[in-house]
Amino acid sequence: MRKILVTGALGQIGSELTMKLRDTYGNDNIIASSRRIKEGHEKLIESGPFEVLNINDGKEVSNVVRKHNVNTIINLAAILSAVGEKDPLACWNVNMNGLINILEVGKEEKCQVFTPSSIAAFGPNTPPDNTPQDTIQRPSTIYGVTKVAGEILCDYYFKKFGVDTRGVRFPGLISYETLPGGGTTDYAVHIYYDAVKNKEYTSFIDKGTKMDMMYMPDALDAIINLMEADPSKLIHRNAFNVTAMSFAPEELADSIRKIIPEFKLKYDVDHVRQAIAESWPNSLDDTAAREEWGWNPKYDIDSMTKDMLEKLSAKLK
Ligand code: NAD
Repeated sequence: MRKILVTGALGQIGSELTMKLRDTYGNDNIIASSRRIKEGHEKLIESGPFEVLNINDGKEVSNVVRKHNVNTIINLAAILSAVGEKDPLACWNVNMNGLINILEVGKEEKCQVFTPSSIAAFGPNTPPDNTPQDTIQRPSTIYGVTKVAGEILCDYYFKKFGVDTRGVRFPGLISYETLPGGGTTDYAVHIYYDAVKNKEYTSFIDKGTKMDMMYMPDALDAIINLMEADPSKLIHRNAFNVTAMSFAPEELADSIRKIIPEFKLKYDVDHVRQAIAESWPNSLDDTAAREEWGWNPKYDIDSMTKDMLEKLSAKLK
């Protein structure tokens, strides 16, 4: 039976993944954890075991894993791209020193370890269209540097110590439960909130800037399906390219206008995040994930827009 520790469980992915895992594997088998308790997550905290846990404290990670007989760690604790550029050392510390603590405990306690990478692991000299699974990775952000190094570190722990490490390169994730934690694709979440509230949005990413994106229900399926995949079929293991759609801000606005015809999109470009966006691919090739563990997203841009606008209209009433 799985006993799963989720780190960073109150973040954008973790807040939804924890509840889905509790529905799938039973509330008591999912140990949610977060560096600190945050308001608005009472339902999650009360629905099953919860620990205050900083992944930079390796001893504490080990104590929590032993206390709950954990055999699977989903490590979502991280500092994301835009926040990382403001504090590169903090980004390195959490994303690298925190990750190696998790991998060490995974080695000692024989846990499967899932860690997401990102499209940020690519850089300006990566082929931008239909970006291959195995290609040039010279990112220009500290977040990207930690993501490439993290991918390789997870491969190393599998090859050297036999830790069952797995991971995907997520694109920008769009969701309505918890706001994103300071990434470059966050505009594609904020646009929906402002569409519902004000029928207009000012984008910090410029028109024509395409990036890969995915709706949260598909991201949660990606984590669970890869975690459950037959290991004998996995050639890549860590850092699978996964994508569901690729669009620029004006294309997302067109999709919103199919439901809110008067919606207006303006631009006030943030040059830091624009430069990051321009260094990332336009669209990924996710053939390896499709072939090795059956990746198959359900949502495209219009079905995502319909669901986001319905859910946010109800939430923001
Ligand atoms: P998030 O910022 O919403 O959540 C991360 C959580 O980690 C936060 O709640 C933060 O408080 C916590 N945290 C930070 N330092 C910690 C520490 N030392 N110990 C414990 N917790 C700590 O991020 P997210 O969007 O949920 O991302 C989760 C993972 O997915 C990250 O590895 C991220 O790089 C990756 N990812 C996310 C996206 C996206 O669009 N959301 C895209 C690609 C990859």
